[in-house]
Amino acid sequence: MSRIRLQGLTRRFGAVTAVDDIELDIADGEFLVLLGPSGCGKSTLLRMIAGLLPPTEGRLWLGDADITHLPPQRRDVAMVFQSYALYPHLSVARNIGFPLRTRKRPRAEIRARVAEVAATLGLTDLLDRKPRELSGGQRQRVALGRALVRDPGAFLMDEPLSNLDAKLRAGTRAEIAELHRRLRTTTVYVTHDQVEAMTMATRIALLNEGRLEQLGTPSEMYDAPASVFAATFLGSPAMNVLDATVRSVDGVLLAEAEGLRLSLGIEADIPERPVRLGVRPEHLTLSPAGRQGIRAVVTTVENLGSEEVAQCRAGHTTVSVRGPRPLGVTPGEAVTLDTRPEQLHLFDHSSGRRLA
Ligand code: ATP
Repeated sequence: MSRIRLQGLTRRFGAVTAVDDIELDIADGEFLVLLGPSGCGKSTLLRMIAGLLPPTEGRLWLGDADITHLPPQRRDVAMVFQSYALYPHLSVARNIGFPLRTRKRPRAEIRARVAEVAATLGLTDLLDRKPRELSGGQRQRVALGRALVRDPGAFLMDEPLSNLDAKLRAGTRAEIAELHRRLRTTTVYVTHDQVEAMTMATRIALLNEGRLEQLGTPSEMYDAPASVFAATFLGSPAMNVLDATVRSVDGVLLAEAEGLRLSLGIEADIPERPVRLGVRPEHLTLSPAGRQGIRAVVTTVENLGSEEVAQCRAGHTTVSVRGPRPLGVTPGEAVTLDTRPEQLHLFDHSSGRRLA
């Protein structure tokens, strides 16, 4: 069993609390992505799981074993770094076999296992090369091979794709996801790239200033973000968030923002209150000015190939609209933006937490 449990895990560096009281239960076979902006504590959390950094408080479990104070080499985990960390003077074969040699495995076993891993990763023809004779993507595959070779209980990966160019990144991303589908090894994967998180994760743990902001499947995170922070972190362009009000009219909630008036179909009797109203760019429709909806003026239109993104000015806010090309609007044009009530996300005006 390679279930990983984090109980109240905390790490402070002087006055900075890099990781703040994290509770997380990572199931055996899961691909958990630690996602969040730079400095939110992702690497610190991963380094604690790897045993490279002791926690200030809290406990860590791998299966039924308390590994909080176990040194890295005695944890059944393998780490893959952003920098690959390959030995430059060793061949690909010797780099991949390194963890087995340090564990004094028999030569024949090492040779067989290296050949097997190299075949899995498409490295068979490169086994005699040195790291400097490889492309970035190939180097990263060697680093993965070195992690795979001893069949660890869990993989810990810290932004393994960030040194690759966009095309290689997409290819290697798919390879890692496919590898996980085949091996089902518990994986904790750090990234700040929301596309990697959305495409690879079984669940995403979104971190914000050392705290767990939201935990959920990619669809849950996208469809029901727990806060304005989560709503605007996932999705490109980001979810639009408008200052709005809700109030009861004839016992049913009505939301209003920048000319938009939508009955939410929720029965409630409340006094008017300010809220923040979220709507994804792909859930807004554009129509000529003068209709019922958000009054806006188009400022730019970006061609993304199959889609277009229009930025529109509505009051003091910029609102993005995304849809199939052509959207049929030009900069300077006055438009109306509309949506359906079920596409709205309501957040508390001061805390930013989700209301509905
Ligand atoms: P990035 O995506 O930029 O790598 P991250 O989310 O991985 O960021 P961490 O590297 O975990 O963030 O850092 C979290 C916080 O802890 C930051 O404020 C960072 O400055 C601080 N920090 C990390 N390591 C140390 C250290 N060794 N000494 C002091 N502060 C540190």
